[in-house]
Amino acid sequence: MTQILYNSTRDNQNTLTAAEAIVKGIANDGGLYFPQTMPEVNLDWDQLKDASYQTIAKLILGAFFTDFTEDEIAYCVDHAYDEKFDTAVIAPLKSIDEKVSILELFHGNTIAFKDMALSILPYLLTTAAKKLQIKEEIVILTATSGDTGKAALAGFSEVPNTRIVVFYPKDGVSEIQELQMVTQVGNNTKVIAVKGNFDDAQTKVKELFNDQALNAQQKNDGFVFSSANSINIGRLVPQVVYYVYSYAQLVKNNAIKAGEHINIAVPTGNFGNILAAYFAKMIGVPIEKLICASNRNNVLVDFFNKGIYDKRRPFYLTSSPSMDILVSSNLERLIYLLNNRQNLPTKELMEQLVKEGNYQINQTVKDQLHDFYASQADDTLTAETIKKVYQESDYILDPHTAVAYAVYQQYLNETNNEDHHNKTVIAGTASPYKFPESVLKALGVNTTELSGRELIDKLSEISQIPIPSAISNIFDAPIRHQEVVEIDAMKEAVLRFLAE
Ligand SMILES: *Cc1c(COP(=O)(O)O)cnc(C)c1O
Repeated sequence: MTQILYNSTRDNQNTLTAAEAIVKGIANDGGLYFPQTMPEVNLDWDQLKDASYQTIAKLILGAFFTDFTEDEIAYCVDHAYDEKFDTAVIAPLKSIDEKVSILELFHGNTIAFKDMALSILPYLLTTAAKKLQIKEEIVILTATSGDTGKAALAGFSEVPNTRIVVFYPKDGVSEIQELQMVTQVGNNTKVIAVKGNFDDAQTKVKELFNDQALNAQQKNDGFVFSSANSINIGRLVPQVVYYVYSYAQLVKNNAIKAGEHINIAVPTGNFGNILAAYFAKMIGVPIEKLICASNRNNVLVDFFNKGIYDKRRPFYLTSSPSMDILVSSNLERLIYLLNNRQNLPTKELMEQLVKEGNYQINQTVKDQLHDFYASQADDTLTAETIKKVYQESDYILDPHTAVAYAVYQQYLNETNNEDHHNKTVIAGTASPYKFPESVLKALGVNTTELSGRELIDKLSEISQIPIPSAISNIFDAPIRHQEVVEIDAMKEAVLRFLAE
C-alpha cells in the first residue's frame, strides 16, 4: 500500500503524516492539510454491499491514514461507532420514492451529522498523540454558536487523556441547545456561558491558542491545547465513509447495479460534507453530480455559477442555522485541487478573500466545476418542501435536509430530467427533532402556545417516530454546568478547570 502524506494547501514542500496533520489541525501558514495523492481503494461492491458501517470505515480510514496500524484504526472505529448511535447500521439509508433516498446522518449523540466525525475525532486525536509520543493531556478549547459544541462535548466525554472546555454565548443559543450542553456528563467536560456574542468568544479562544506564556505554562503542567475544528483532516475523512456506505446499500437493495452512477445532494455550509462526497467520487464511487444546496446565504451558489466568491453581502438568519455561513472554509481544498495543487494561486485567492472580501477564479478553474450543480432555497420554499415531502412520502425532513431536497428538485427541472435514470442520495444532516418548531410550522401546526417539551411531544405524535434519547432526557437531566463569565475571565476559567 502506498504511503499517503499530507501537505498544506499553501505549501506542497512541507509534508506530514496523517497523525501529525490530525494533531496540528491547521497548518502554520493558514492552509488546510490535503492528501498528496488520493489512495487507491479496491471498491468491490459485491463484497461491500454486505459490509457493516464499521468495516467500510476501517477500509476508508485505513486507506487515507496509512501511518496508523490496522489495530489503531480498528480501535478508533469500534469506539466511535458503537451503542451511542441509536441504530446498529449507524447511517440508515431511507428510500422515500423510486429515485430519492435520504442518508440519515443523525443517529448519534446530538442527532445531527457532526456526530459522524466528532464521534471518531477524539480517538484519532489521542491515538495520533500517542504515536507521536505526546505525553501531555490534550485540552480541547471550543467556542460554539450551538451545535458543534455539544457534538464535541459528547465526542470527548470520558475519552481518556483528554479534557474539553466549551464556551457559548449566554443569550445566543436556543433553549434546547443550552439544555443539551449544560446537562453534559463526563468529568473531563466543562461548559461555560460567556457574557458576549459568539464572535467575542471565538476571538478569545483563538487568543488563548496563541498565548505563548499560557501554552508554555500548560505544557509544564502536563497539558496541550488543541481544537476540534471542522477543517481538521480527521473530521473530513470519516465523512467519506458514509458516501461509500450509501452506495453499497443502494447496490444491496437492488436500487442500482454496481457501477451505475448516482447523484449526491448536500445541504452545505462550511463545504466539509460535500467535499467528503467529492473525495468519495475521487476514490472511485460512481458519483455523477454533486448538488450543492444553500439557504438564503447563497455565497456558494454565486461561486459555482459565476466563478466569484464574494462574502461582502448581508448575513441572514434562516430556519437552517447550521448553514448560515459566509466563509466556507473547506472550499480552499477544492480551490487548491482545481488549481492543479499549486500553492501560489490558492494562497493568493485566500489572502484576497481576507483582505478584500472577494476573489474570482480563472476560466480554466471555472471549467472544472461541472461536477457540481448549485442552487438555493429560502425559508418559504424550505417549509413548502417539508410539507410536500410529508404529504407525498410520509417522511419528515428537517429544514437543512429540506433545503437539499428543494435544490435537487430545481436540478431536475433545470436539466429536464436529462439524467432521470440517476438515483439520488440526499445527505440528511439533522433529525427533525432538532428543529421541532420550524418543522411543525411547516406542517401547518400552530406552535405559539407550545413549550419546548410540548413541541417535541407534538412532533412525535405526528411523525410516529420515537423521541430520540438525545432529546427526551434533557428536560429532566440534572444541570451540571452553571458557570457564567465575562469574556475577559475566560482564561481564568480554563485555568481553574485544569487545576481541578
Ligand atoms: C454543519 C451542518 C451543515 C453544513 O455542513 P458543512 O459540512 O459545514 O457544509 C448542514 N446541516 C447541519 C444540520 C449541520 O449541522
